[in-house]
Amino acid sequence: MRIFVAGHGGMVGSAILRKLQARQQAGQDVTPLTRSHGELDLTDQVAVRSFFQDERPDAVILAAAKVGGILANDLYPAQFIYENLMIQSNVVHQAYAAGVQKLLQLGSSCIYPKFAPQPMSEDMLLTGPLEPTNEPYAVAKISGIKLCESYNRQYGTDYRSIMPTNLYGPGDNFHPENSHVLPALIRRFHQAVQEEAEEVVVWGSGSPRREFLHVDDMAEAALFVLDLEPETYRRETQEMMSHLNVGSGVDVSIRELAEMIARVIGFAGRVVFDTSKPDGTPRKLMDVSRLTRLGWTASVGLEDGISMTYQWFLNHHDDRL
Ligand code: GDP
Repeated sequence: MRIFVAGHGGMVGSAILRKLQARQQAGQDVTPLTRSHGELDLTDQVAVRSFFQDERPDAVILAAAKVGGILANDLYPAQFIYENLMIQSNVVHQAYAAGVQKLLQLGSSCIYPKFAPQPMSEDMLLTGPLEPTNEPYAVAKISGIKLCESYNRQYGTDYRSIMPTNLYGPGDNFHPENSHVLPALIRRFHQAVQEEAEEVVVWGSGSPRREFLHVDDMAEAALFVLDLEPETYRRETQEMMSHLNVGSGVDVSIRELAEMIARVIGFAGRVVFDTSKPDGTPRKLMDVSRLTRLGWTASVGLEDGISMTYQWFLNHHDDRL
């Protein structure tokens, strides 16, 4: 079984690739197939078409996307909507054209309405207005779900979607402005300890609540969903073959997250909140009861996950802070 992992260089794709390689080494019939960004530009329709026609993989895991935190979404809305729409359309359509029956694509919890009841179940999709700070990205990801759903309906394919909560872990983006909150704060608290600073600034009011999932848990969940029998996936997605949520089922406030990161890194100074920065959605907690019922639950606790990610950061960042 040759599985094309699109986006294997990213945090999620590389975690999935590690799991597939472990399966291959354990003697399972799995051969991961990858292309670097330089070898294959997924926004290029002609290039994607010839890749699929030449390689004809048995399955596809679509983990390639333009992603970023609350500020990056605000600064680069055109790239967030254009690149994600192009990547999805090219990969899904050319996979179909090359006869690929099985595909798994990844989305995000921001597809749900800003004020969706918490925890957010799969059927909250398209029930209300989105959070404005990441609407272009969310619209692209919703289109991705509908793309797969439509190909399944019209062409009888088995294209599945999973919507993970906020992910973090090894290979994360630690950029000071464009990254997500967890890696951004790891970097900022680390820097504060290095510089013996007395305070660390955290964006927003500290009161928004977010759910976090370690990327290794996410990779395991992705393969778990890909392995489900078609009838099981169809039943759990209510015959629509739409999407399944993936999360830890637990959320924390940004203030609690900052305190946890300060503890892990050993910062004893003050934490101050910059309320000129946006809070975004007040709460984003996934209802993961469908996946739990099927037998998958997250295993990495948040504080352990932060420690592991901090270790990775220490081993990999090059001190150009
Ligand atoms: P979101 O889940 O799409 O809102 O994405 P983020 O991970 O970027 O932000 C989550 C929350 O953390 C928001 O309320 C941010 O304002 C808050 N936050 C606090 N400090 C930071 C930071 O340094 N970087 C980012 N990206 N968010 C921060």
